Amino acid sequence: MSLVVFILIDGVRPDAIEAANCPHLIRLLRRSAFTLKATSVLPSITLPCHMSIFHSVPPARHGVTTNDWQPMARPLPGLVEQAHAAGRRCAFFHNWEPLRNLNAPGSLTFSYFRDNVYSDPDGDRIIAEAAARYITTDQPDFVFVYLGTVDTAGHRHGWMSSEYLAQLERVDGALGTLLAALPADSAILLQSDHGGHERTHGSDSPEDMTIPWLVAGPGIRRDYPIKSRVSLLDTAPTLARLLGISPHREWEGRCVEEIFEEAL
Ligand SMILES: [Zn+2]
Repeated sequence: MSLVVFILIDGVRPDAIEAANCPHLIRLLRRSAFTLKATSVLPSITLPCHMSIFHSVPPARHGVTTNDWQPMARPLPGLVEQAHAAGRRCAFFHNWEPLRNLNAPGSLTFSYFRDNVYSDPDGDRIIAEAAARYITTDQPDFVFVYLGTVDTAGHRHGWMSSEYLAQLERVDGALGTLLAALPADSAILLQSDHGGHERTHGSDSPEDMTIPWLVAGPGIRRDYPIKSRVSLLDTAPTLARLLGISPHREWEGRCVEEIFEEAL
């Protein structure tokens, strides 16, 4: 079975990809089925978004509406729990601590966290290099790589500021390192969690709610603009398909069938 890699670059607006010079991201986009008009969830805040990404339900259902995590009132399995139950080896690499709560205890094979998202402009490179090493030496089935420094730059300097765009260019280098380490037959899903405006995000404005979403790999259409509407609720069902596992019946998103060369 080939590796499935899920890369999330926090706080990237689709128009930032065009405004910055990010050759690795553009090259990946060119070999992807992609949309630059996918939608986030409300509130468009990091932890609620990630809970929705991994559990395929909106914040109103999972109940995490701020960056302070709390247990779900009515728990449901997320992508990692489904994958673990099906015998898949899952690993997380991240530099924002609250993401530790995304998965049930015991469901990850490996987890790597370094607290550098506010302190080190090259923090994402450390995360990407750790993921690249692990992928090379172990045989994971699913790897999540979270890169958080672009969002930090947005909060400090403003979304679409020169500093914000420069940070995206820096992270593009880290992305290149990671992509170069992947086996050729890997499937890659890359997205953001939300956009931003001024020095914040969380609202229902298009600047906050619109995100890039793309998938590349064997059997995936290349340089293909996705026509249907994509929500970040669709990420877990799509990753489940790529992993060859079943979505949970309570998930509310759907696999984006259109990305596949052959209708399944
Ligand atoms: Zn975020």
